[in-house]
Amino acid sequence: MRQMKQTNSRRGIPSVEKVLQALGGVSLPRPLVLRIVRSHLAKLRSEGGMAQFDELIESLRGELRKLELTRLQPVINGTGILIHTNFGRSPLAAAALEAIDGAGKFYNNLEYDLGAGERGQRGAYLEELLAHLCEAEAATVVNNCAAALVLILHHCTRERREVIISRGELVQIGGGFRIPDILKHAGAVLREVGTTNKTSLADYQEAISAQTGLILKVHRSNFAMSGFVDSPSREELTRLAHEGKLLFVEDLGSGAISAEAFATLDREPTPAECIRAGVDLVCFSGDKLFGGPQAGIIVGRLEAIRALKKDPLFRALRCDKLIMAGLQATAELWATEADRGSLPLVQMIRADAGQLRKRAENLMEELGELPLDLAIGSGSAEAGGGALPGATFESVTLDVRPKGATLEEFASRLREGHPPVVGYIAKGVFKLDLRTIFPEQEGALLEAIRQAVQTRPI
Ligand SMILES: *Cc1c(COP(=O)(O)O)cnc(C)c1O
Repeated sequence: MRQMKQTNSRRGIPSVEKVLQALGGVSLPRPLVLRIVRSHLAKLRSEGGMAQFDELIESLRGELRKLELTRLQPVINGTGILIHTNFGRSPLAAAALEAIDGAGKFYNNLEYDLGAGERGQRGAYLEELLAHLCEAEAATVVNNCAAALVLILHHCTRERREVIISRGELVQIGGGFRIPDILKHAGAVLREVGTTNKTSLADYQEAISAQTGLILKVHRSNFAMSGFVDSPSREELTRLAHEGKLLFVEDLGSGAISAEAFATLDREPTPAECIRAGVDLVCFSGDKLFGGPQAGIIVGRLEAIRALKKDPLFRALRCDKLIMAGLQATAELWATEADRGSLPLVQMIRADAGQLRKRAENLMEELGELPLDLAIGSGSAEAGGGALPGATFESVTLDVRPKGATLEEFASRLREGHPPVVGYIAKGVFKLDLRTIFPEQEGALLEAIRQAVQTRPI
């Protein structure tokens, strides 16, 4: 240690202790700060020295701050996008959080048969509940919808490799999820039919061969096509698949359990609707319109679900107890009409403009003394997260124009504040959409805005 110090000072590199002292209080765990400082100093050493001590401290502070911003933390979402993949998609209902708390805090019967007093089945109740909600024979869950699709494709194309899919459905969903890639990785062979805008039943029919494993339909969950567009109905595809003794699978993505719950928005097909039309297996995400934790829900024919659960890949993709507890509580809310109102997504969609305006006015009043131009504005919220593409609905915004700072500067200071606040800039103002801001976050929002204005003159 002593020797290292001497070497350091010869090259003008300060000791770790000196740097830590100069940094002062940092809110990250000390061993982590130490790691950053050491690697920073090692880099300087290899580069043969450093400029100013102050500059070193400044740059280290910047590095630590940058790291701290990547720490998972609650964010105030003023974007008006309800299911924002970057913000962890759907917020969970209180009942789901309680269930997660209970399952995590104590032991539970995850795989224990309480009646028999021996090893039991995992998720039997949850599967029954999900099957009920989707009017299906059976159900199961894996890590996410992508995993569900991989499992289905991998399992159902072991012998006959080809998967028939319309060119209009070879889509990309969010960060790097491309249907053709998923197919490839699952060991399936893509057999594209039709064109981008039109695919007929005959196109599917002509593609069926001895190599065909299944017909796949992928819901266009993040974009809408209109105009000269056509594709066969689910019923027609079911008939075709079953005549050829093929499975008909649908990747539904968003998974709106109830059409009425989201009635103010455009229609999304429900899993039950797909099942009624004869689709053999339907998969959708647990954390989009379903409003639960990240999961991939698969519903459909009993035999098919049973076979999926026996596939060794299922073991690698299964959910943990916390997810299952949260999903179970969320599914129970869906099961009882009167309880659906406690799902945050449903509440946000139902919030009326009058209520939102009142909240915006209160915020405006609270911020009155700050050097900000404030106004109540209008915005258009949207479902986001691969659900209800193109459907926007009226919302109310708090419009802010900071005095003596650009909108970008103000937005960036709010993003880096405590808690971080994300809004958007439109028509020369910084906007915060009230629909996606929880009423219980308002106190923290006011504090964050005050800090953004006051900590440094802007
Ligand atoms: C969102 C979506 C997926 C991916 O779901 P994850 O749960 O994020 O894996 C797959 N397919 C469709 C149609 C989707 O909308």
